[in-house]
Amino acid sequence: MRDHSKSSTLATVVAPLLCIPLYWESTAAVPFGIWLFVMAMAVVARYLLIQSIGAEPQPSRDFKHLNMAIGLVTLVWGMGWYVFVQPGDIVSYLLYQIISLTVLFFGMVGYCIDWKTFAAFVVPLKAPELLFIGLHFDQIVWPIALGSMVAFYMALKMAFLFAKSWEKSFALGQKNDALIAQLVEEKNASMEANLAKSEFIATASHDLRQPMQSINIFVDLIDPHQLNESSRTIFGRMRKSIAVLNRMFNTLLDISKLDSKFVVRESQFQLVEIIHNLQDSFTDLNTEKKVCLSFEGGHYKVLGDPNLVEQILRNLLANAIQYTDQGHIQVRFEAKSDALSFSVTDTGCGIPAADLPLIFNEFYRSDHSRSQYDGLGLGLAIVSRIVKKIQGQCRVQSEVGRGSVFTVDTPFAVVSQPVREKGQVFTAQSTLQSTKPETHESQTAQAKRQLGIIENDESLQQAYQQYFTLAGYSVHIIPYEEDAFAAHLAVLPKLDFILSDFRLGSKDGIYFITQLREEFNHDIPACIVTADTSPQHLELFGQHNIDVMYKPIDIKTIEKFISHRMP
Ligand code: ADP
Repeated sequence: MRDHSKSSTLATVVAPLLCIPLYWESTAAVPFGIWLFVMAMAVVARYLLIQSIGAEPQPSRDFKHLNMAIGLVTLVWGMGWYVFVQPGDIVSYLLYQIISLTVLFFGMVGYCIDWKTFAAFVVPLKAPELLFIGLHFDQIVWPIALGSMVAFYMALKMAFLFAKSWEKSFALGQKNDALIAQLVEEKNASMEANLAKSEFIATASHDLRQPMQSINIFVDLIDPHQLNESSRTIFGRMRKSIAVLNRMFNTLLDISKLDSKFVVRESQFQLVEIIHNLQDSFTDLNTEKKVCLSFEGGHYKVLGDPNLVEQILRNLLANAIQYTDQGHIQVRFEAKSDALSFSVTDTGCGIPAADLPLIFNEFYRSDHSRSQYDGLGLGLAIVSRIVKKIQGQCRVQSEVGRGSVFTVDTPFAVVSQPVREKGQVFTAQSTLQSTKPETHESQTAQAKRQLGIIENDESLQQAYQQYFTLAGYSVHIIPYEEDAFAAHLAVLPKLDFILSDFRLGSKDGIYFITQLREEFNHDIPACIVTADTSPQHLELFGQHNIDVMYKPIDIKTIEKFISHRMP
């Protein structure tokens, strides 16, 4: 209303001036001049009152000023009846009636959202007209006067009704705004809580990862062939439990990485690369199971995020292997409308129909399998989060006792079709049972490879030294105290690989790796093995061209990685 008043100031100046050509001849100069003067005063007063309504709202004062401002001007318009209209002259009467109605409608547009303001506008306009009719009772054209009064009454009623409904919708709007503000606040709070949860998981698991890493490596250093029968059985069980613990740690790490900040990084990749990684990881996983793992349709080239595709498959495959005691597990890739889809089919224990809608929830574990198998109930929640992030779809079909099929449709474009010879289907196949663990003897070919190790945990340092020396590397333990480090540089040969911890006293692994690279004037391949999983550090490692592995990780995987990265 304040804005309407401000914008109609010009109209209050122009409208009285328009009366000059209309009534100049029929009106005496003195009353006309007085009316124009009074109107000019009213317009100035109106302007000042409206300007006094500040940007800081003070409702009662603002309404008072607004009502006075508009009432003043319409009162002068009301006075016009006595200045311009000759009681017996129908033309001047009708003309002023039209002016009066126009002013009335003008006010309806601007002021009827508050009925008191509308009344302050319209009563000073119409009351003088009513009085005029009363005074000139015998000379008035009754139908016109009656019509004008009916219009006045209807306008007041309309303003009243409109003001009421506007008040209601305004109150509802305010309620809505308050609800939206509350929702936003709650959403922010839950996002913060989620982030805090992720950070807590990452920090809490950091301190547990360090000793887990030592356990992993010492267990790897034990040669089961040198144990007697019963110790070997116990040792096998211990290894299994450690593998479960490792899986749980890595699942916690995965879920903490998938907070709101994670991004999809697209590039072109061959599915075969992913298949090889999965085969590497899963053929060793369970040597006791009579399960055959096969891949089909892996010759596609895809534009998408290979890490996310691999992570989804890794989780689905880990489940398939975990919940399948015999039979086969098949991973199939296909192009659906030129987008990548894949499925993991197993012949395992299956999932009861009642559990199917729940298995993608965080920490949900089906009672059907809970007692038999270990897990955290996060694997499928991770799959579901990634699929949502990439705007894909995931579905599951399962029958208890017969097996399950998990299918994922991604939006990632298949950029080349598989090359197929007549009737031939690409199948990378491996049988879990047939895979033999790598032996140290097979790695003696690595002899004379110079491996630098920077690690502040003494037991881990010893374990690394023992393992890599046995594996045929020439191992150099590099001190991480600055003076000792500088002195050691003089006796170090040119390194082929640097394996470092991240947190090393007052410095970190990045610092020492950079120093070593500068000393040898060569971008020596390097990997940081750390329990620190924060995303900022991950980015830093990338910027320095340093690979990263997270503890706990078994030493064979570290060794495999080193031998691939060495020149
Ligand atoms: P976890 O395997 O750690 O329990 P997940 O989130 O990966 O957690 O899976 C949730 C539940 O779904 C599992 O507890 C299991 O009951 C069921 N499930 C998942 N995959 C399979 C599968 N391939 N076969 C049978 N049950 C499965």
